[in-house]
Formats: sequence, C-alpha cells, structure tokens
Amino acid sequence: SAQEDGGRTQRVYDPRMQQRARERLWLDHHLRKALELQQLELHYQPKLDLRTGHCLGVEALLRWRHPKRGLIRPDLFIARAEDNGQIAAIGRWVIVSAASQAAQWRAQGLPTRIAVNISARQFQDADLLRWLSECQRAAHGLLDVELTESSVIGDQQRTAAFMQECRQLGFKVYLDDFGTGFSSLAMLARLPIDVIKLDRSFLKSGPEQERSEALMKSVVSVAKELRLSIVAEGVETIAQEAFLRDIGVHSAQGWLYAVAMPAAEYPGWMQARQRR
Ligand code: C2E
Ligand code: MG
Ligand code: MG
Ligand code: MG
Repeated sequence: SAQEDGGRTQRVYDPRMQQRARERLWLDHHLRKALELQQLELHYQPKLDLRTGHCLGVEALLRWRHPKRGLIRPDLFIARAEDNGQIAAIGRWVIVSAASQAAQWRAQGLPTRIAVNISARQFQDADLLRWLSECQRAAHGLLDVELTESSVIGDQQRTAAFMQECRQLGFKVYLDDFGTGFSSLAMLARLPIDVIKLDRSFLKSGPEQERSEALMKSVVSVAKELRLSIVAEGVETIAQEAFLRDIGVHSAQGWLYAVAMPAAEYPGWMQARQRR
C-alpha cells in the first residue's frame, strides 16, 4: 500500500538507521582486527557459596579494549559478531585464554573453575568440541560452560548431545539467563544441565517484585526436584541476598561481592576475602 511505501521511504532516510548501519560497518571492520591487535581481554567475576563464603569459581566475561573508545562491553559487539560470523574466532580465543588462565592460577596454588560463555552460533562450528576438549585438558579440567536459555531452545536434540559431550569432558553445564527465554520447565528435565543461572531480571524491585519472588520460589522448587544447582546472577543488595537465602538459593554472583575484574586482580581479591 501507499502507506507502507511511505513508511519504507521514511525509514531509509531515518538518521537513526543510518547511525546503526554505520555502527555495524565500524564493528565489522574493527572487530576483525581486534583479535590480531590483541585488544580483547577476559575479566573474571566470582561466584560465591553463600553458606561458606567460599568462591565457587569465576565467570569469564569478554572485554574489548579499543584505543579510542575505551573498554567496550560484550552487549555492544557479541550480537554483531554472531551475525557476521566472527564469533567463531573470538569464541575460540575466549576458550584458549580461559584455559591458560586456569592453568596459570592452578600453578600459582589458586585452582579456580572458570566458566566460559558459548553462544548459539558457536554450535555451528564443527570443531568446537575438539577445541573444548583440548583446552579442557590444558586447563586440568577446570573449565565449565554457560549456554543461554535462548540458545538452547532451537534444536534440542543437538543441544542435548552437545551438553552431554561437554559433561563427559568434565565441564559443568550452566543454563544462563534462565527465565528470560521461552523454555519450559519440561525442557529443564530433558537437557543434561548441572546448574541453572537465575537471570538478574528476577531481582526486581517495585510493583513486579512480588510476582518475581513467587516465580523464583517455584524455579527453586523445580530445581530441587530435578537435583539441579542454582546460582543467582546480578545480586546487588543485602536484601536480595537475604531473600535468596530464604528461598534456598545458596550460590550468587553480582556486584554485591565483586565486579568482573582483570585476571591480575583476582589473587588479591581472594586473599582479602579469605582474611574476612
Ligand atoms: P551473562 O553471561 O549473563 O553475564 C552476566 C552479565 O551481568 C555480565 O555483563 C556482568 O558484568 C553483569 N553483571 C554481573 N553482576 C551484576 C550485577 O550485580 N548487576 C548488574 N546490573 N549486572 C551484573 P557483561 O560482562 O556486560 O556481559 C554481557 C553478556 O555478554 C553476558 O551475559 C554474555 O551473554 C555475553 N558474553 C560475555 N562474554 C562472552 C563471551 O566470551 N562469549 C560469548 N559468546 N558471550 C559473552
Ligand atoms: Mg554467563
Ligand atoms: Mg547470565
Ligand atoms: Mg543475564
């Protein structure tokens, strides 16, 4: 219709669209160079056992240190890397780097489990498992994987097979951002998952808080039933921690404990923590 045409024409000249297109071009170009220019780094955020205060391990979170733009967070470039295929190379770099970090900390007497995030698009890399297997060996079995809920709702048989292989290689399998996708509780029972990561959007305040809390309680009871562990992500306040304890969530990750830090800061953070 004329109206649709009008809409289309308008959109072509929409300055925000041009801005986004420019941004995509910028990312495509500079992301390709980021690896060879060694601009990528991993930061590490601890996960804590709330009962003992012990660090259960860390999550490796990708950062891009761009000379002009400063530190760029993954939300701004991972999706683009998935679209243009660069996630394959970046993802392999992440796994190798995490493995060598795990080996290094272990050699320093600080053995630490490191969980790496794997996106759906990386499943398409036929070499991914071989890669994971070699890196797991280099890491003395200290690596885990985090797969987002949205990435596992596609081909479930394939996802389940992938998870099972990971487990056999000694990875603990985390289901990341649980509660944001459209997976069913039945899916939880079918997939070989070890740990559910409760998405931080559950920890709302305001009018939705009561409903979120009710939902969290039901997830906890299902997880108990299925003998799955739960980690809460994005814990920022003592009140949130208290609630989580109340409903039986014993592991947490969030700014209340530590932000993601460069590898060099982790040993000092651990020492300070053990002194408490
Ligand atoms: P994620 O795996 O769910 O990681 C948790 C995100 O929450 C991280 O954001 C972390 O910095 C942030 N966070 C932690 N504690 C708090 C808190 O208390 N409050 C708030 N508001 N946020 C908190 P980040 O580092 O920006 O990463 C965003 C997402 O990018 C990750 O979400 C993950 O899906 C993806 N990502 C990060 N690194 C990689 C990677 O190496 N490979 C792939 N494929 N994806 C990655
Ligand atoms: Mg994660
Ligand atoms: Mg998450
Ligand atoms: Mg999340």
